[in-house]
Amino acid sequence: MSREIPYKIYLEESEMPKQWYNLRADMKNKPAPLLNPETLQPVTFEELSGIFCEELAKQELNETDTHIDIPEEIQKFYKMYRPAPLVRAYCLEEKLDTPAKIYYKFEGNNTSGSHKLNSAIAQAYYAKKQGLKGVTTETGAGQWGTALSMACSYFDLDCQVYMVKVSYEQKPFRREVMRTYGASVTPSPSETTNIGRQILKEHPGTNGSLGCAISEAVEKAVSTEGYRYVLGSVLNQVLLHQSIIGMETKIALDKYEIVPDIVIGCAGGGSNLGGLIAPFMGEKIRGERDYQIIAVEPASCPSMTRGTYAYDYCDTGRVCPLQKMYTLGSGFMPSPNHAGGLRYHGMSATLSQLYADGLMEARSVEQSAVFEAATQFARVEGILPAPESSHAIRVALDEALKCKETGEEKTIVFGLTGTGYFDMFAYEKFNDGKMTDYIPTDEEIAASCAKLPKVN
Ligand SMILES: *Cc1c(COP(=O)(O)O)cnc(C)c1O
Repeated sequence: MSREIPYKIYLEESEMPKQWYNLRADMKNKPAPLLNPETLQPVTFEELSGIFCEELAKQELNETDTHIDIPEEIQKFYKMYRPAPLVRAYCLEEKLDTPAKIYYKFEGNNTSGSHKLNSAIAQAYYAKKQGLKGVTTETGAGQWGTALSMACSYFDLDCQVYMVKVSYEQKPFRREVMRTYGASVTPSPSETTNIGRQILKEHPGTNGSLGCAISEAVEKAVSTEGYRYVLGSVLNQVLLHQSIIGMETKIALDKYEIVPDIVIGCAGGGSNLGGLIAPFMGEKIRGERDYQIIAVEPASCPSMTRGTYAYDYCDTGRVCPLQKMYTLGSGFMPSPNHAGGLRYHGMSATLSQLYADGLMEARSVEQSAVFEAATQFARVEGILPAPESSHAIRVALDEALKCKETGEEKTIVFGLTGTGYFDMFAYEKFNDGKMTDYIPTDEEIAASCAKLPKVN
């Protein structure tokens, strides 16, 4: 007997997860270890803790504990803006006239406007606990920097953000939100670091890139007493913190005995997707249940669908550890795409391994099709989605429309990672019919991948 399913499935505070789920502990093929960029040997805890907070370095290397306690202080903060609702998209289903049942987990219910706060608060907490003065980071579109500045102000930590120059100029309001929370924001590349000065010399007038901003932030952290670097995606620790998304989703679905057929998420560095799918993928790996899991990436930055699975640098300046991942090459400069959060050359090592093992699929979608889906969604579901999130919406719509043809009543769950209020420049382009779909050629990708580092 199935109960009537409400529009929004909320959890009671008492039902909220008290532990994060570490999917890697259940993986049969573990992701390859991070390598020290100088020695090309697996990084040690000591090396990692020179860059990251100690507890986070431990989490980064932990592939044995399936569950890790969420400290009380973080649980308290989570309760301010979580649990995030799991929404049954009845209105969208009706509009599409599909027999599919569509659910989305909405992570945009906080000022930063995305899921990034889930990891920002954890990283700020561990930095504070270690007695640090502050942290440095990079931000592309600005969501991560905003989330981190909120988290740092909560714990009274200094927050220094390197913001990709083009976004710094295009998104003054994001910058101002960060400053309102007390962060200092520097456009990258900048004159404040060696790597920044070097990049400016080689590429005068450059718009900057995420990889370059990462290099600056790392350099600043390791050269400043009492500071560490924090990163908003890609790393194992970030996927771990984001598992809160998937665990809440699973608890909510289980309450109503709903079993999804398809789980969909957008993939930039892979953190929201890794978090959303974690408990489902865990069941799949343990042979308990099967799910179709789909990563969606932009056609302009197709790391999984067209990249190479190899060791690569995580940043342009090559100061971060190397990671084995699907990559377009650390020198790959994606064409300007309005989903800034998805413009990263690589993919989380965990997701890369799962994809290599055939446990998940990847699809790439073009920008204008993404904005069509975004607009369609906004008009019926009452949320103006972020361009990044709209990649997942696109594929959810495609799958729901397939069900309409076949008559299948599939249950689709997708991650709606955030809101798009700071992306109106992109919506404006779309509304004016001026959006372009640049897709890199095979030659461009091959040329970039030819420069991958030679590891063993
Ligand atoms: C940053 C961001 C993403 C992509 O990052 P992942 O680490 O791949 O999750 C997706 N959606 C929004 C709204 C973002 O801010």
